[in-house]
Amino acid sequence: MGKTYVVVAEVRGGSLRQVTLEALQAVSIAKEDGDVTTAVLIGSQITPLAAELANVVDGQVYSIDHPELEVYNPEAYLNVMKQVFEHVAPDVVVLGHTALGRDLAPALAAHLGAGQISDVTAIDKQDGDVLFTRPLYAGKAFEQKRFNGGPQVVTIRPNNVEPAAAVSSPAEIIELDYAPSGSLRSIVKDIVRKTSGKVDLTEAKIVVSGGRGVKSAEGFKPLEELADVLHGAVGASRAACDAGYCDYSMQIGQTGKVVTPEIYIACGISGAIQHLAGMSQSRVIIAINKDPEAPIFKVADYGIVGDLFEVVPLLTQEFRKV
Ligand code: FAD
Repeated sequence: MGKTYVVVAEVRGGSLRQVTLEALQAVSIAKEDGDVTTAVLIGSQITPLAAELANVVDGQVYSIDHPELEVYNPEAYLNVMKQVFEHVAPDVVVLGHTALGRDLAPALAAHLGAGQISDVTAIDKQDGDVLFTRPLYAGKAFEQKRFNGGPQVVTIRPNNVEPAAAVSSPAEIIELDYAPSGSLRSIVKDIVRKTSGKVDLTEAKIVVSGGRGVKSAEGFKPLEELADVLHGAVGASRAACDAGYCDYSMQIGQTGKVVTPEIYIACGISGAIQHLAGMSQSRVIIAINKDPEAPIFKVADYGIVGDLFEVVPLLTQEFRKV
């Protein structure tokens, strides 16, 4: 009998997150003939999103729609997943390696008695095995893992797998009722967003990042303008966050966010190993630094030795023309 893959979809700002499409594509890569895909969509007023999701799922979509599920609550979402598992016995559960995925995945693994492979950046098949590649030692090395039987839980790092394309026949949508348990030990009262950026940092195709060299909160303005023109997001080094130039939600690195955009533009960032841990897997790295000896140039594909306050506005001006 074939395997059942269950993909936990994510919604943000009324849209399906890109990482959900990437998780579905990861499943398409892993799947053999006879395997089935079930996507689970949890939220509030999600009927249009369930239809959208069904267009990229070759199988079925479980939709659980309730006002109490509008924001992520670990207990509530775990209860919903337990309810889904009464209908679908999963062999592999796949989530995005996001704040939600990192929180929910271990709870699902514990519930299912499953093994877990986190932060997967590539999926390959070899001699009938599905191999999951994940970084080690802050991106200095990679390991390939495979499961040895039993249910499995996998989280996929955003921006590493192509998003799934539309399927020829949309999935069947199954709506499940949600019964609020009334005994949740914690309730999310409010979510205070720290960033106002239009593009999610971990999913952005282009990231313009600033370090201590940006010198002030005001100094981030030219970087924001460049990111805006490129439809990208703004990130930062820890030194820039520590100095109060920007919010910690923008920090990239070992103790911040991990990003793998197509283009990473590091402005006034020296290239400390802890920063590289969060961005070295970017497809193209462009460094702007006035010190030609800065270590960032060792990992950069393109380097501009110069003052970021001259170079960044020039780039913005040129990209505006395109
Ligand atoms: P600096 O190292 O001070 O570099 C500033 C750069 O700006 C210099 O190269 C300088 O030449 C250049 N510059 C100055 N003015 C200009 C200008 N006008 N134009 C162009 N270039 C200019 N760091 C992170 O980023 N992320 C993390 O997650 C992280 N986690 C850490 C965890 C631990 C346990 C520890 C110990 C450290 C961590 N750090 C992290 C800190 C890290 O070690 C570095 O201190 C930090 O990354 C340095 O930030 P920076 O490159 O912005 O600053």
